Amino acid sequence: MVEERLLEPALIPADNEVEEGLRPRQLVNYVGQRKAVANLKVFIAAARKRGEALDHLLLYGPPGLGKTTLSRIIAAEMGAQIRGTSGPAITRPGDLAAILSSLQPHDILFIDEIHRLNRVVEEILYPALEDFRIDIIIGQGPAARSISLELPPFTLVGATTRIGLLSSPLRDRFGIVMRLEFYQIDELAEIILRSARILAIEIDREGAAEIARRSRGTPRIANRLLKRVRDFAQVDGLSAISQEVAATALDSLEIDTLGLDNLDRLFMDTIIHKFNGGPVGIETLAAVLHEEPDTLEDVCEPFLLQSGFLDRTPRGRVVTRRAREYFS
Ligand code: ADP
Repeated sequence: MVEERLLEPALIPADNEVEEGLRPRQLVNYVGQRKAVANLKVFIAAARKRGEALDHLLLYGPPGLGKTTLSRIIAAEMGAQIRGTSGPAITRPGDLAAILSSLQPHDILFIDEIHRLNRVVEEILYPALEDFRIDIIIGQGPAARSISLELPPFTLVGATTRIGLLSSPLRDRFGIVMRLEFYQIDELAEIILRSARILAIEIDREGAAEIARRSRGTPRIANRLLKRVRDFAQVDGLSAISQEVAATALDSLEIDTLGLDNLDRLFMDTIIHKFNGGPVGIETLAAVLHEEPDTLEDVCEPFLLQSGFLDRTPRGRVVTRRAREYFS
């Protein structure tokens, strides 16, 4: 159901066309993430000054926070090309070898969901990252021999929602590791106002702030809610989105004032009422809610943890006092 997926931070098909247009292309338009951006500026300037490729960089954080966007901006700032792929898309070592051997000096290779690379492929990556070389086996059986292929200096930008699932040899090969944070309300409002300008939607500051408050700290959701609220305004024949229009539309979509949706509420409700507040394991919760454990861990939990509703303990998830009050 559309309503149920509105707060899904992962990309859904309807986002594709519009998202490209809304993606900032320069660092100056990349809102928020001040710490990461400030550090990156230094690393980029230093690499450029030395005429070297940027160090390999790992970006991690929940979906929709701007990892892909940032990697493209980095390529632009470095004056380099970017090749994009994803962990599950590279199934055989030969696929990765082909991508790596097509890179130009200082190119950026972006691998999304890098925690889902398989081990065999991952092992090809180690010498590529460390020594800019790959070892490939040619032939089969006793006639097989290994040849070493030199690669140009390149930068791997890996993105992951689950840094804990990355093997440590892979993690250790990144010179820079950056965590992207959920965005503040004023930052999301700025993103919404910028998107509204691009999409020619009229909205005032209060309207943008109302959408921002309910966007789960996530730019992708903010942009998606802006478009849905515009639909409501248009159907009602309104030319501009005010706070009231935004609030009414988001209420109709059952997105509450903290940005929680049905799945979040069901998740919390289940722990509180079926498991007496926890602790309860994620597998059990997933079975009860008929959801994938990964969906709960990637989509629901980070924001509920950040909002102070949920705690993770070695014995499972437990709700906080704040959750008992809010969901009572
Ligand atoms: P991720 O790769 O982390 O899942 P994306 O980089 O695809 O997230 O970001 C999703 C969308 O959110 C982008 O298309 C862009 O429109 C918007 N966005 C993300 N980060 C920012 C930002 N810092 N400033 C403005 N817009 C952003």
